[in-house]
Amino acid sequence: MKTLVLKPGREKSLVRRHPWVFSGAIAEVDRQPESGETVQVRSSAGEPLGMAAYSPHSQIRARVWAWGDAQIDTRFFTARIQDAASARTALRIDQWSDAWRLVHGESDGLPGIIADRYGDTAVMQLLSAGAERWRDAIADTLCALPGITRVWERSDADVRELEGLKPRNGLSRGTPLPGAPVVHEHGLEFKVEIDAGHKTGFYLDQRDNRLLLRRLVRGKDVLDCFCYTGGFSVNALHGGARSLLAIDSSALALDMARANARLNGLAEAEWLDADVFQSLRRLRDQGRSFDVIVLDPPKFAPTAAHAERASRAYKDINLLAFKMLRPGGFLMTFSCSGGVSAELFQKIVAGAALDAGVEARIESWLHAAADHPVALSFPESEYLKGLLCRVAA
Ligand code: SAH
Repeated sequence: MKTLVLKPGREKSLVRRHPWVFSGAIAEVDRQPESGETVQVRSSAGEPLGMAAYSPHSQIRARVWAWGDAQIDTRFFTARIQDAASARTALRIDQWSDAWRLVHGESDGLPGIIADRYGDTAVMQLLSAGAERWRDAIADTLCALPGITRVWERSDADVRELEGLKPRNGLSRGTPLPGAPVVHEHGLEFKVEIDAGHKTGFYLDQRDNRLLLRRLVRGKDVLDCFCYTGGFSVNALHGGARSLLAIDSSALALDMARANARLNGLAEAEWLDADVFQSLRRLRDQGRSFDVIVLDPPKFAPTAAHAERASRAYKDINLLAFKMLRPGGFLMTFSCSGGVSAELFQKIVAGAALDAGVEARIESWLHAAADHPVALSFPESEYLKGLLCRVAA
């Protein structure tokens, strides 16, 4: 077994079970491990801390698979993935959906490994050198899970470049897909493009929040900003919104959103292919107003280094939204930026309300659904935060 020895004092985060070893914390690496090879991580005093996957090209030079001394083999991955899958089974998401996250990376003890289920298809995303090395074990285990008949690999996220890995997008196990999977969620159907969509095709993390929106919109005029393939929009229409204006700058996403509304036999809405920042200004200048506004933008700050610019962008759209909300109206606003904490996000939204000259209160703190857990030792997993605010009547 090759070893990786830390500099004195740099074992602290690992002792607290944070699984990342940064290159700057390493004193010496024994015999040039290959990309993804398992190494034993030791403190400067020689104490074994855990077994980790070595990433020669990344600043995150190693990610811990298991603490102490453990055997990292096919059986290890089978057991961890089965455990992650059964944790979801226990949540009984199947009562209202046939799509959920099976494996959520570090928070399932599987750094760099994401897997989502869309009906009988598992979509896996391998994001680190260690995950890449164990591809076959991961794919075989996913394919053998109850109800899964095929595995699609969607390993084309940008972060793979940092690991020196090439993109991959294709069928990994089972028979070819007959077409884009259609998933069922809370009585609605959504077509999911697993080979081209964001993430693995659909924002599973917003499942509970979509349902919450549905409950708020009967008879209301709704604005859905950054609507993507219509997750919130279709729920708003189904919930009886009087009108819906949905905005996204991707024509492809809007086509899917329209198709998803049709798939559910829902009334036509106004689908606008435009930049949200500009559109909000234009709508404000036109004197438009709404009862419910959803802001679910892309990640403005992937890391804390981008937090300042991201804060300005969040402030901008939230301020404009507050200005256009009618008395008693609701703002459902999100940040999925890892670099913006829940506390900072709440401050930004509070500042936006103040500058918009409206009084508003938080009715609910919103999070990713329960199939996206957060390991207590890995708070970075808590990327999605949202607020449901109500403007004073
Ligand atoms: N609310 C969606 C997910 C949003 S993802 C859901 O629940 O499914 C973010 C979306 O923002 C993407 O569809 C992307 O095309 C869009 N987008 C990114 N920047 C934009 C901009 N400046 N104006 C409009 N849309 C934008």
